[in-house]
Amino acid sequence: MTRIVLCFLLAALLSACAPTRRGSALADDWIESPNHGPRRPHMVVVHYTTNNDAETAIRTLTNPAREVSAHYLIGRDGRIVQLVDEDRRAWHAGASYWSGHRDVNSASIGIELDNNGREPFPPTQIDALLALLADLRTRYDIAASHVVGHSDVALGRKVDPGPLFPWRTLASHGYGLWCDPPYPTAPPGFSLEAALQAIGYDPADPDAARRAFRLHFLPDRDVLAAAAVEADLAHCLIRNGTRFAPALDASPQAAPEREQIGRTR
Ligand SMILES: [Zn+2]
Repeated sequence: MTRIVLCFLLAALLSACAPTRRGSALADDWIESPNHGPRRPHMVVVHYTTNNDAETAIRTLTNPAREVSAHYLIGRDGRIVQLVDEDRRAWHAGASYWSGHRDVNSASIGIELDNNGREPFPPTQIDALLALLADLRTRYDIAASHVVGHSDVALGRKVDPGPLFPWRTLASHGYGLWCDPPYPTAPPGFSLEAALQAIGYDPADPDAARRAFRLHFLPDRDVLAAAAVEADLAHCLIRNGTRFAPALDASPQAAPEREQIGRTR
């Protein structure tokens, strides 16, 4: 009897120690190749938390009932807290689209910034973000056009990191696209709708893509002023690609809308 119990315990122990694998039940054999490695994210999505302090955000981002997380949280003081292994799929983008990818969570690193959505981002916090982006770029092939905001990938649902986020500063370091005015005139027949899709926006809702584009690239202009230049700007962004084109300083002034952290799995 004792031997039976021991065998049972040994079998349970061996099965607990056995590596787990995910795959199709249709496979007839499991012959493991050593030639593989972790999946490689190729996007970064920037968020703000909507909270007044990092501790509140950490409670939310680690609460199983909230079903929301990010790989990193950066405090107002520049402290970087990692919450999810980079090999794992954090739940930060939710229903989303960028440049043909409909599962942004699977393709991206999510970075939350401790910010309530109504205040400027402190330089110390942005410096830490730039350092983290530089570190990520040493390990992953992340194109400048693939550093985006939650508002860019979740059209009509999200507004973070909002109009106060310094996209121009990021672009000057090679993260995200940017063009400064005056923009060269777009050629005749230039399609803004097609341009936004080429930049990465979801073509399913052109009006929502246009609003997200304005929030990101023209946050300090009202609707009429934005409409007057948006085609030229989109043309400039596509023409420049990853090349930063500094000229005039554009400081976003508009007040952001509030967003709430919700389920984003
Ligand atoms: Zn977000």
